[in-house]
Amino acid sequence: MKSNEQNVVEQNLLGMSQQDLEQFFSVIDEKSFRATQLMKWMHQQGVADYEQMTNLSKSLRDWLHKNATIQLPEMLNEEISTDGTRKWLLKVDDKNAVETVFIPENDRATLCVSSQAGCALDCTFCATARQGFAGNLTAAQIISQLWFAEHRLRTQFNKRRVIGNVVFMGMGEPLANFDNVVTAIRIMMDDNAYGLGKRKVTVSTSGIVPKIDKLRDELDVSLAVSLHAPNDEIRNQLVPMNRRYPIAELMQACRRFIEDKNRKHTITFEYVMLDKINDSPQNAKQLAKLIKDVPSKVNLIPFNAFPNSGFERSSDQVIEEFREILQAAGITTITRRPRGEDIAAACGQLAGDITDKVKRQRHFEKLHEREMLDYRVEVATCA
Ligand code: SF4
Repeated sequence: MKSNEQNVVEQNLLGMSQQDLEQFFSVIDEKSFRATQLMKWMHQQGVADYEQMTNLSKSLRDWLHKNATIQLPEMLNEEISTDGTRKWLLKVDDKNAVETVFIPENDRATLCVSSQAGCALDCTFCATARQGFAGNLTAAQIISQLWFAEHRLRTQFNKRRVIGNVVFMGMGEPLANFDNVVTAIRIMMDDNAYGLGKRKVTVSTSGIVPKIDKLRDELDVSLAVSLHAPNDEIRNQLVPMNRRYPIAELMQACRRFIEDKNRKHTITFEYVMLDKINDSPQNAKQLAKLIKDVPSKVNLIPFNAFPNSGFERSSDQVIEEFREILQAAGITTITRRPRGEDIAAACGQLAGDITDKVKRQRHFEKLHEREMLDYRVEVATCA
């Protein structure tokens, strides 16, 4: 090992991809296989103490002690639902904590991760939006949620691997934190780390059209779109991002995302069922017409109430009728069974504990509606 260490700034190695680590070690003329060794120790073995990394030389371990950290998340709270769902509150910095949800199924388990501390997009039915926005999570803070869940549960369940799927459906708009999300996904999919297959990672977006195109260019992952409405009139009220990128533009982006036949993509459209807002038979027919030429499936999500939301959940009967109309139109439609409702871990209920840096309520009251939207988009897209 040669010493160019004055060029190296102390960083959290947990959030570095294989390529980042190779570059990191090249500064001190270490061979690239060191990156593989370190990835395996951190992500496969769950080891954060350099002294346990026995295939690294003593001099390299000493150098790492001085120049890099492996900063692990601190769990502030754990809640376990009667259905086995677990919600963790994980501290990401001195002021903020985000929520991560583990959802066990019979044959697989899914982890729902957060990509931002809060969210700036202000979807009207979303508990996260009410908390304001404190900032983007780093790649390390995103991957640390998977690190934490995987290694905590491996010990508890005595399994080699626990998490089979990761969905970016926790706090935040993942495509508004593009670079960090992409780096974290590269680590998730790396065989030297978690080895998740490309269909096992799903990025969910409220519809930032240019970033959907960019995601298609960068990664082969699954895409979910938080649609929630069959027309612009309703969607403008539920998802303010729609005023920037209306439904017609969003559908074009969805078609572009799946046009590469080799990828065999389908889009998942998420549709929260809100009583007398978006749940009429006419809405169902309009939705069927809208998406009929996009290879896709629809997840109907019974609304998960939170205090002062101003919305009610559609009745089971209305949801079933809505589903039948879509099915009859040839669209695979699933009604998602609410998970973790008793611990507020269900879709749209995550709130975390964050300090609202944009002080949204005070600012937004002063702004004209159009200015307000531009402001939100600007805040949300600054990576
Ligand atoms: S639904 Fe998603 S994008 Fe919309 S405010 Fe909530 S977290 Fe943000």
